[in-house]
Amino acid sequence: MIPVTTFKDRKVALFGLGGSGLATAKALVAGGAVVVAWDDNPDSVAKAAGEGIGTADLRTIDWPAMAAFVLSPGVPLTHPKPHWSVDLARAAGVEIIGDVELFVRERRAHAPYCPFIAITGTNGKSTTTALIAHILKSSGRDTQLGGNIGTAILTLDPPKAERYFVVECSSYQIDLAPTLNPTAGILLNLTPDHLDRHGTMQHYADIKERLVAGSATAVIGVDDSYSALIADRIERAGVPVRRISKRNVTAEGLYAEGSRIIEAHGGTSSLFIDLDGIQTLKGGHNAQNAAAAIAACLAVGVSAEDIRAGLKSFPGLKHRMQPVGRRGHVVFVNDSKATNADAAAPALSSYDRIYWIAGGLPKEGGIASLAPLFPRIVKAYLIGEAAPAFAATLGETVSYEISGTLERAVAHAAADAESNGEASAVMLSPACASFDQYKNFEVRGDAFVKHVAGLDGVTMLIETGKGN
Ligand code: ADP
Repeated sequence: MIPVTTFKDRKVALFGLGGSGLATAKALVAGGAVVVAWDDNPDSVAKAAGEGIGTADLRTIDWPAMAAFVLSPGVPLTHPKPHWSVDLARAAGVEIIGDVELFVRERRAHAPYCPFIAITGTNGKSTTTALIAHILKSSGRDTQLGGNIGTAILTLDPPKAERYFVVECSSYQIDLAPTLNPTAGILLNLTPDHLDRHGTMQHYADIKERLVAGSATAVIGVDDSYSALIADRIERAGVPVRRISKRNVTAEGLYAEGSRIIEAHGGTSSLFIDLDGIQTLKGGHNAQNAAAAIAACLAVGVSAEDIRAGLKSFPGLKHRMQPVGRRGHVVFVNDSKATNADAAAPALSSYDRIYWIAGGLPKEGGIASLAPLFPRIVKAYLIGEAAPAFAATLGETVSYEISGTLERAVAHAAADAESNGEASAVMLSPACASFDQYKNFEVRGDAFVKHVAGLDGVTMLIETGKGN
C-alpha cells in the first residue's frame, strides 16, 4: 500500500467505496489523514466502517473544513450531470481529485524521479500497459503495474528511486488528476467512446490531452485526427513528442510497415524489430501497441536489446487475442474480451483461416459490420442467445453450426480444424456480451481455456489456473 502522507492531519471527504475507493480511503488513513467517507450503497458504507474508516453522510458534513474531496472514478464528475457530492464540494470551493492524483503528489513529495509511465487511449490501454510492465520486469527492474487495469494504484508499493510505475489511466482518472506528470505519457488513439460520460468528442479528447501535456516525454499515436492535432499542439508548447503510427512514416518516433517496426530518429530510420512470429502481438492494432511500448521504454532508459527480448517473450494479456494452446497446426486463441463486433474485428483480421466461436448476449448492430472479414472464416460455431441472429447474417456465405454451448463449440471446432490439416486458429472472439451464459467475459474466457486444456494432445501455451 502507498500511505498518502500529503494530507496528514487534514480532513478529506471521499465518495465511492467500491474496490478502489476503499483502497484509497485506507491509504489516506494509513498516511494520517482524517477521512470521512460515504457511498450511496449502505453495504459499502458498513464495510468501510467495519474496516476502521470514518463514515458520514456527506450531505451533513462541514464542507469548508475539508482539505480535499476524493471521488471514485466511477462517479460522474461532469456528465450526464455532476453527482450530488460533486455539487456540494464545488459549492464549498473544495478541490476534487482522485486516486491517481494522490499517487502523483506522493511521488512528487518522496521520489520525484522514480520512473512513471502513464497510458491512455480509447483502445489498447491494457495490452500496452501489460506489455510495458512485462518488458521492464523481464529486464530485472522493480516494476509496479496498476490503475485502470484492475489493481488500484494506491495498493501498489510506495514510490522510490529505481522503482518503475506503469499505470493505465481512464479518462475519468485523468479528469481527477490535475497535476498528472508522468515521465513518459502515452496517448494511443482516440475514437468516439463513453460520450455519455464526456458529453462531446472534443471534451473527451481534451481530457486525454492532459495526460500527454504534462509528460516529460509524450508518446502519441497519430493515426486519428484528434491525436495528431494533440501531438502538434503539445509539441509547440515545448513537450518532446515521439509519434507512433501503424500507417504513415513519422519523422521522429516509431511506425509500422506491416509487422516491421521502424524507428525514426534524427533524420534516419532503421528497423527496430519485426513482430512477425510473435504470436501475442499479431495484427496492426498490436503494432501500434508495441510501437508505443518501445517508445516509452526507450524514454525511461531501457536498452533496445532488453526491449526486444521483452517483446519476444510477452505472454499476452488474458482474454485479448491470447494464444492459449496449440495442437499440431492449430492454435487456440482466447479473445473473450471482444464483446462487440468492433472489438472482434482486429482478431478476425489477424488470422487467415479461422474456426470462429461467436455469440452470447447480442449487441445492437450484430455482426453485419464484420462481413469483409467473413472470407477468413472457415466455419462459425454459434453459442448463446445471439446464435439465430448471427446465423441469419452469415447466411449462405459462411458455413456455420449452432453449437449452443462453448464446450460443444470448442470440441467441434477443434475436430474440424484438426481434420482439415491446414494451419489455422480456433478462436473465441464472441462479438457479444457474456451474461446469458457466464458471469462476465473473464469467466467465459477461463471456460474456453479449460475446454481447450481438456482436449487430447493439446500443449498449453499459458499457465492455467492463475492470471498473467
Ligand atoms: P483497453 O484496455 O483500452 O480496453 P485492451 O488492451 O484491453 O484495450 O484491448 C481490448 C480490445 O481492443 C482487444 O481485444 C482488441 O480487439 C482491441 N485493441 C487492442 N489494441 C488496440 C489498438 N491499438 N487499436 C484498436 N483496437 C485495439
